[in-house]
Amino acid sequence: MVLPTLPADVDEIVPGVIADRRFIHEHPELGFQEHETSKFVAERLAALGAEDIQTGIAGTGITALIHGGKGEGKCVLLRADMDALPLTEETPVEFASRTPGVMHACGHDGHTAMLMGVARILQERKDQFAGTVKLCFQPSEEANEGGARPMIEAGVLENPHVDACFGQHVMSDRPTGEIWVNGGPIQASADAFKITVQGKGGHGAMPHTSIDPIMIAADIVSGLHKIVSRNVDPLDPVVVSPCTFHSGTAGNIIPDTAELTGTVRTFSPENRDLAETRLKEVATGIAAAHGATVTIEYDRGYPPTINDVEMAALAEVSLAKVVGEENVMKMRPIMPAEDMSYFLLERPGCYFMTGCGNEAKGIVWPHHHPKFDLDEDALGIGVAALAQVAIDYLNS
Ligand SMILES: [Zn+2]
Ligand SMILES: [Zn+2]
Repeated sequence: MVLPTLPADVDEIVPGVIADRRFIHEHPELGFQEHETSKFVAERLAALGAEDIQTGIAGTGITALIHGGKGEGKCVLLRADMDALPLTEETPVEFASRTPGVMHACGHDGHTAMLMGVARILQERKDQFAGTVKLCFQPSEEANEGGARPMIEAGVLENPHVDACFGQHVMSDRPTGEIWVNGGPIQASADAFKITVQGKGGHGAMPHTSIDPIMIAADIVSGLHKIVSRNVDPLDPVVVSPCTFHSGTAGNIIPDTAELTGTVRTFSPENRDLAETRLKEVATGIAAAHGATVTIEYDRGYPPTINDVEMAALAEVSLAKVVGEENVMKMRPIMPAEDMSYFLLERPGCYFMTGCGNEAKGIVWPHHHPKFDLDEDALGIGVAALAQVAIDYLNS
């Protein structure tokens, strides 16, 4: 692969960005426990001369401002996540995790280091833009309860009022040098359900005296699979997956209850509502048809991540300046969820994927794998990319 030539100011700070990433990688912290990481970031931002540094937002979150030298204007929020995963690292790198059972296996160490790099570049390029950059380092993206929503609730989208938001995720299944972006939905919502069927237990030899929750739950599984095939627009993908099925204790006992749990993924608020409504109707209806009852717990996780079409188009032009038009790819939506979605529900913006895979270096492992690594050549690209997007947005 041919790597892009980075702007001289970015090229100059790349060793520092790599060193920061390695330090964070060596000291990973789980969601909402990023105390040392947060301290490290705050000190760095202060040293850079970023203004109005706020710490402890939603626990460990940080915001800081950089004011452009061209006067008043819009405010753009740039977001990075800081958390690691509960995983024991199995990479051969010298800077592997020093905390047993915790590892940066998704690249958030890179995101945090890159955003600090972006801060430095924007601080140096202040005279090139009007308005304000709000840097946002958030806790806990990986947990079900992410840091984005509590940060928004704490007011990070105001004072100053944020007009647009951008961020990036490294992607190890795409080569370094490529950036993937698209307007519209790019990542799914992630909701969880638990259905408990209450039947009536009895002797396995006398089914007519019982209400068999296993048979009813099996019907419900089959019914749930028809939501996608019969209720959902095939051009707007949905996943409904019952993933556990528990019932019974012995081969001659019809049990009292059966329990199903699973996940629902959607790319639009409409389908999200539809899937939840239909799941409840199907489970309740099937149970009623057999004289049983159901209890349904339905937990909404992250919403779908939806890029604003105009912001994505703007980002595409900026990204092409960094990696060349031929290396800006149309991203296909993916099913994993992401809490950048909350920012994108509140403000127009764009989340893009920065390739960080490198077969020649053996950097081929998927995210959340104990051998996951990122190609550090991607870090400078990510810095240049996000800085360019921010400047172009503020000057647009
Ligand atoms: Zn992850
Ligand atoms: Zn991630």
